[in-house]
Amino acid sequence: MRCPFCGNDDTQVKDSRPHEDGAAIRRRRICGSCGQRFTTIERVQLRDLVVVKADGRRVPFERDKMARSVRIALRKRPVEADRIERIVNGLVRHLEATGETDIPSRDIGRLIMETLREIDSVAYIRFASVHWDFRETKDFADILETISASVSGDAGEDLPPSGPGDKD
Ligand SMILES: [Zn+2]
Repeated sequence: MRCPFCGNDDTQVKDSRPHEDGAAIRRRRICGSCGQRFTTIERVQLRDLVVVKADGRRVPFERDKMARSVRIALRKRPVEADRIERIVNGLVRHLEATGETDIPSRDIGRLIMETLREIDSVAYIRFASVHWDFRETKDFADILETISASVSGDAGEDLPPSGPGDKD
C-alpha cells in the first residue's frame, strides 16, 4: 500500500483488528520513508455493482457515497456510528444479493428509504425529501401516508419536544 503522504511504496502494517463486527479489517500502517501513520479498511466485495441513473448513465457503485448519504440523513440522530456502518454493510449486501450487476439508482434510493424508515422516521423524511423523485404525485402521496402512519406510531415514545440541535 502506497503512502498517501509521500507516495513511497514501503509501508508496514503495525496493527490489524476486526472492524464493524468483523465485516471489515482495520489496519494501522506506518510509512518507512516519512514516518506518517494511516489506516486502511479491508472489506469483502462480492461483486462490482453498476448504478443506472435516471437518465440512463451507468456509473460504478460507490459504497462511500451511499454511506455518506445515510450518515447525512442520520446526522444528530440517536444512532451510533458503528450501527450506521452496519446498516450500510447490510444495504450493500442486500444489493449484492439481488444477483443483478446493474441496479437502477431509484431502486437503491428505495432500499435506503425502506431501511431508514425502520430505524428513524426523521432520517427517513430527510432522505426522502432529498433523494426521492417527487414528480410522481402518487409517490409523494404514498410517502406522506407512510410518514403520518409512522408519526402516529411513534406517539408512545417519550421524545422531547425539540430536537437535539435546538438547544440554546
Ligand atoms: Zn510516506
